[in-house]
Amino acid sequence: MAKLSLRNISKRFGDTQVIHDFSADVDNGEFLVLLGASGSGKSTLLRIIAGLTDASAGDVIFDNLRVNRQSPRERDVAFVFQSYALYPHLTVRENIAFPLALDRFKTWHHIPGISAIARRIFGSSKDIAEQVAGVSSMLELDEYANRKPGGLSGGQRQRVALARALIRNPSMFLLDEPLSNLDAKLRAELRGEIVRLHKLTGKTFVYVTHDQVEAMTMATQIVILHNGIVQQHATPQEIYTRPANTYVARFIGSPP
Ligand code: ADP
Ligand code: MG
Repeated sequence: MAKLSLRNISKRFGDTQVIHDFSADVDNGEFLVLLGASGSGKSTLLRIIAGLTDASAGDVIFDNLRVNRQSPRERDVAFVFQSYALYPHLTVRENIAFPLALDRFKTWHHIPGISAIARRIFGSSKDIAEQVAGVSSMLELDEYANRKPGGLSGGQRQRVALARALIRNPSMFLLDEPLSNLDAKLRAELRGEIVRLHKLTGKTFVYVTHDQVEAMTMATQIVILHNGIVQQHATPQEIYTRPANTYVARFIGSPP
């Protein structure tokens, strides 16, 4: 059974159509990479999967259930962005715990002075502390638990963002160019880290990038997008050895 099905998704912004009749099935546990140049519609598609943007037409289906009208939280997805989007006033530990605390105290985000309240709850809840410790050690963040994001490197910040995504045990991970702000060495390191997380959790990952190397080394399946139109949907090996058209061949750099 497909974990995720996208059926005839189109998206317009005003007069401009940016996604053209996109359909794909993603099996449970797949690592799907949406690969394409800047402006090809990758982020828009990911946001439609997440429930952050409505499609103009078509259906988003999770586990055979149409989720078009469900919020990101109801869809039970975790999102990791290019910018780390951490709370600067909370420590690493508190940042990681935040989604769990939000689940428990759904009205928190309306309360001013949230960080003071957050600290008290994080400090007092043993099961939250244990879960945070678990994902922190998985991502080798233990020694930074009490630091604020301002005192971390880019790679460490992105590890915190991954830990925070992991902690709610979501049904699906959606990542939008999470490594783009990092230097080449860190990018390679974190690539391995994310692949390890995928293997460890066995969850479905949808990963957006414009980087062919990331796609080829991380994906189990790749969708290549160009101007909102699918050029090919296949395994990395198939795409490399049998590119569907000259656009794909040139983009991937396959042998002629
Ligand atoms: P990618 O992530 O592949 O770079 P995007 O999905 O961000 O591409 O954008 C695809 C196209 O849609 C681009 O031409 C972009 O300018 C346009 N677009 C994205 N978001 C909006 C928006 N909120 N309003 C208008 N146009 C948008
Ligand atoms: Mg984008």
